[in-house]
Amino acid sequence: MNRIASYFKSLLLLELLQGMGLTFRYLFKPKVTVRYPMEHIPKSNRFRGLHALRRYPNGEERCIACKLCEAVCPALAITIDSAPRASDGQRRTTRYEIDLFKCIFCGFCEESCPVDSIVESHVHEYHFEHRGENVVTKPQLLAIGDRFESQIAAARAQDAAYR
Ligand code: SF4
Ligand code: SF4
Repeated sequence: MNRIASYFKSLLLLELLQGMGLTFRYLFKPKVTVRYPMEHIPKSNRFRGLHALRRYPNGEERCIACKLCEAVCPALAITIDSAPRASDGQRRTTRYEIDLFKCIFCGFCEESCPVDSIVESHVHEYHFEHRGENVVTKPQLLAIGDRFESQIAAARAQDAAYR
């Protein structure tokens, strides 16, 4: 009996019509598909995207070259060289590089930083066009920090109670 029912179902294309009916009903329902990249979904304030080095409001770079981030990085993606600054003898980085091909975006570097210098911004849309561009240098990291400081500061303020 089941086989006969199945035969008639196939013959009359009932399953196909059921499927088309479902498609037709969804034509008039609100759309949930995000048309990326024209549309974006909201990001968490804890989103871990492209790294940035931050400055204090007076323009002084926050990083004190303690190298905690370099030590904690499980992917060995961070390379830091440091030296006393000529003007006042304070220790500062002379080289701060992150290899984004090695980075696993775990966030340990930003968690370990005692002065909130290295952070992961909300930026996730970036690309490389030439060999070696995966290694982001200190000037580039500072430039990202300068560009997105207001968003970075707002995201960290939102999370302050949980840190
Ligand atoms: S996010 Fe993790 S893997 Fe990437 S640089 Fe920071 S500590 Fe290293
Ligand atoms: S970014 Fe933070 S943790 Fe890394 S060297 Fe600078 S001060 Fe230390």
